[in-house]
Amino acid sequence: MNERLPAYFISHGAPTLALNSNDPTHRFFRELGRLLGKPRAVIVVSAHWEANSPRVSGVSRPETIHDFYGFPGALYRLTYPAEGAPELAQRVVELLGEVDIRASVDARRGIDHGVWIPLMLMYPEADVPVIQLSVQVGLGNYHHYVMGRALRPLRSRGVLILGSGGLTHNLAEVELDSPSDALPMWAGEFRSWVVNAIEQGRHQDLLRYESLAPHAQRNHPREEHFLPLFTAMGAGDVGRRVHSAVAFRSLAMDAFSFD
Ligand code: ZN
Repeated sequence: MNERLPAYFISHGAPTLALNSNDPTHRFFRELGRLLGKPRAVIVVSAHWEANSPRVSGVSRPETIHDFYGFPGALYRLTYPAEGAPELAQRVVELLGEVDIRASVDARRGIDHGVWIPLMLMYPEADVPVIQLSVQVGLGNYHHYVMGRALRPLRSRGVLILGSGGLTHNLAEVELDSPSDALPMWAGEFRSWVVNAIEQGRHQDLLRYESLAPHAQRNHPREEHFLPLFTAMGAGDVGRRVHSAVAFRSLAMDAFSFD
């Protein structure tokens, strides 16, 4: 595959997404996989792997990590047996080194649910090799943006870059039984601001979202689910919303492509 793939930011929601085939985001992931076809490999920046400096999973057979608690037993029996891509992991370390970001290969790390649940829906045959890149809470938005810029050439090499987090993510404000598919005002205003900024290409504003976006702290009390956006954004230019949904009252499940 020689054409340049878009990079994506996706909102992965709760693990139960894997089982709920009626969920619009479940259906979106299935459709996205069909639409994209099979890339040579996928690199996922997941909110669920935090490190002090960038780590890249370099195992040839990554184990499926069930990093969630109190969910239905069926979820803990799911595995995603995709291969790793150790050579690509090494290439990622080199590319990050070219922009003075010191990264290292992790020879043991498996794949967490921010990685395998979307991929299980996109590529159910587990036939696309996968590596994972950590987020660095505390190193800031720009660091993650620069990582995306550095990885951008991989898009022309058949590698799919996915940032996997959440457009909004305040677990104290979720309601599991909420029937509503309309966001509360504080989440809706934040979502609108982010969508407009992405689609207008206002990267500098997005990088300062904490002070510019309405209700930023309430939507992201911690930043780990928003940081993968900056890597996807850095890997492309023009952003476009390709999916929109609401889960559990306050989780915006939106996804964006960056061409
Ligand atoms: Zn998550």
